[in-house]
Amino acid sequence: MRFFIDQPISGGAKIVITDAGICHQLARVLRYTIGDTIIVLDGKGSEGEAVIQSITKNAVTVKIGACGKNTNESEYTVTLYQSVLKKDKMEWVFEKCTEIGVARFVPVLSEHSVKQGVNFIRARKIAQEAAEQSRRGIIPEINEISSFESAVKEAKESGAVCVLAHNIGEAEHLRDFARTHDLSGGVNVFVGPEGGFSDAEVAYASQNGFHIVSLGKRTLRAETAAITACFSVVR
Ligand code: SAM
Repeated sequence: MRFFIDQPISGGAKIVITDAGICHQLARVLRYTIGDTIIVLDGKGSEGEAVIQSITKNAVTVKIGACGKNTNESEYTVTLYQSVLKKDKMEWVFEKCTEIGVARFVPVLSEHSVKQGVNFIRARKIAQEAAEQSRRGIIPEINEISSFESAVKEAKESGAVCVLAHNIGEAEHLRDFARTHDLSGGVNVFVGPEGGFSDAEVAYASQNGFHIVSLGKRTLRAETAAITACFSVVR
C-alpha cells in the first residue's frame, strides 16, 4: 500500500505518521502490524519503503529503508482545463485523469456550464487516492474555478502548447497533433461542458493561439472527452 505523507523521506529515518485517515486505514481497515512494509511518498516525487515499528489508531511509526525517485510521472506537464460538469462526472474526471497522469486540474466556468461549483475537499481526496492507486509520485493540484477568459489567459502565458477539443469535422485529431508537435514545454488541454463550447469561446481560444483539435468523428460525453484527450497527450 502507498501513502502520501507530508514529511521528507530519507533512508534510515524514523517517521511518526499521525494523519487520521492513514492511521485508521493501516490499523483498523488493513490491520497492518509491526514488521509490515508500506511505501511512503513525500508528494514531491520521492518514495521509500517503510517498515512499521509501532501502530495504534492515532499514530504509526515507520523506519524508512530503500528510497528513491518515483519514475511514473509523465515526461511533461499536462494540465486539464475542464469546464465544470455535474458532480459525479466531474469527480470521475478528477479520478480517471489523475490515473492517466494529469499534473494539474483547472475547473473552468464556460458559457454553457450547467453546474457552477466543485466540492474541493472531496475532489482533492479523490485525486490523492487515485494518485496512490496509480503509483504516481505527486498528487495533482486542483485549482480554484476560473472564468473561461482567465483560463485562456493563464494557459497562454504559461508558454505550454494550448489545445481546445471541439467537435468539428475538419480539425486534426489530438492524437496525431501530439505526435507531430513538441510538447516538452507542457500542454494545456481544454475540454468543454455537457453543452459544448460556444462559438465565441472557440473563436476566442483560436485568436489566442490555441490549436482547435478533434477527438474523432463521434461526439463524446465531456468526461469521455477529458480522458481521451489526456490519454492522447500524456507520455
Ligand atoms: N453538443 C455539444 C457540441 O457539439 O459541442 C457536445 C459537447 S461534448 C458532450 C462536451 C465536450 O467534449 C466538448 O465541448 C468537447 O470539448 C469535447 N468533445 C466531445 N466529443 C468531441 C470530439 N469528437 N472532438 C473534439 N472534442 C470533443
